[in-house]
Amino acid sequence: MALIVQKYGGTSVGSVERIRNVARRVAKWRAAGHQVVVVPSAMSGETNRLIALAKELQAQPDPRELDVVASTGEQVTVGLLAMALEAIGVRAKSYTGWQVKVLTDSAYTKSRIISIDDARLRADLDAGCVPVVAGFQGIDAEGNLTTLGRGGSDTSAVALAAALKADECQIFTDVDAVYTTDPRVVPEARPLATVSFEEMLELASLGSKVLQIRSVEFAGKYKVPTRVLSSLTDPDIPVEVEGRSGTLITFEEDPKMAMEKAVISGVAFNRDEAKITVHDVPDRPGIAYAILGPIADANIDVDVIVQNVGHDGMTDLSFTVHRNDYARAVKLLKDQVQPHIKCREVSGDDRIAKVSIVGLGMRSHAGIAARMFRTLSEEGINIQMISTSEIKISVVLEEKYMELAVRVLHKAFDLDQQ
Ligand code: ADP
Ligand code: ASP
Ligand code: MG
Repeated sequence: MALIVQKYGGTSVGSVERIRNVARRVAKWRAAGHQVVVVPSAMSGETNRLIALAKELQAQPDPRELDVVASTGEQVTVGLLAMALEAIGVRAKSYTGWQVKVLTDSAYTKSRIISIDDARLRADLDAGCVPVVAGFQGIDAEGNLTTLGRGGSDTSAVALAAALKADECQIFTDVDAVYTTDPRVVPEARPLATVSFEEMLELASLGSKVLQIRSVEFAGKYKVPTRVLSSLTDPDIPVEVEGRSGTLITFEEDPKMAMEKAVISGVAFNRDEAKITVHDVPDRPGIAYAILGPIADANIDVDVIVQNVGHDGMTDLSFTVHRNDYARAVKLLKDQVQPHIKCREVSGDDRIAKVSIVGLGMRSHAGIAARMFRTLSEEGINIQMISTSEIKISVVLEEKYMELAVRVLHKAFDLDQQ
């Protein structure tokens, strides 16, 4: 008997019919003798709908109240799913985040989980009941409702699996695996049977929304065996088959597998960023701090940073921020920074995208960056910024070339080949 946490994403619970299918799948795992905790997201489109309602009333909704509204989507699905389970004879009980007590910090709309009280869930499991726990939400120390950021029910599920020391966390979604890139963009993308934790962390942080980055961080920190698999298959496929399907995140590289592995495991992309350039700033110590210090103080995260070689004592500094922070960052620079550092101009571009290649094999292979840049140049794609780590190379380019860049890179690194 194993203890399994199963997370079902928005599409997987997108209609009453699909909720019935989830119930059948859970019932199957129970019948095979396993203990199951289920974590559903809101029905697909629901969180967007709730946020849009809030924005009709406030252009920048009050974060505390936004979380009160946005967290309701998951309250609906836990109740419905518990009913669907009871209707087919599986004992089940729904819980909101605060009923469990998923304790988070108070950073509304992007809270982090601090701890999870597993007492009620354990009691249910011991009594043969399936706890159905709302994803995406928690409660802070003062009793305020919080949410974990978009895609956060992945994190709820992995964190619950860690708290319960579950044997596996299964992330059921609308694709049947983690692919070499988003199969909606490149139909030739191939499913990965395994992906290393480090690669998955990079892929998630670079834009592959199949798993929220914090869920991967939790999986790594607590070594939670985590698997991505499809909820759209026949719910009655045998557990032995389903239990081996999809993509497993691995924590230790099997040396033999590593030898055979492709140099690059995947291509990720992200159009959530915008680029800001501060032109003709004096090229002297402290200038990067003078520009980026106030940005950090305003709680704006900076991603790729490029500073050019100076000419005549002047230089340009470019960096990217999340598009949601773009207008605020430009205004802050123009109002508060420009008058002090006396740069010529602050300009920006929110029609950029970041495309990245990721692979552990990069550590031991030379020439990967050159191949990436040649591939892009052959398509006439201009690279605006570059950033690298041991296992990834990211480039910032014009947004209109993003999909082309993903396709040609996917091909250039033979990711479409078996
Ligand atoms: P859920 O609602 O189940 O959480 P998401 O929409 O958040 O589902 O994540 C699944 C989606 O992630 C897929 O439909 C796919 O379009 C996208 N995706 C992006 N990159 C990848 C990838 N490398 N492999 C698989 N899916 C990916
Ligand atoms: N419902 C939330 C969202 O749409 C959380 C999730 O789906 O994981 O972002
Ligand atoms: Mg998701």
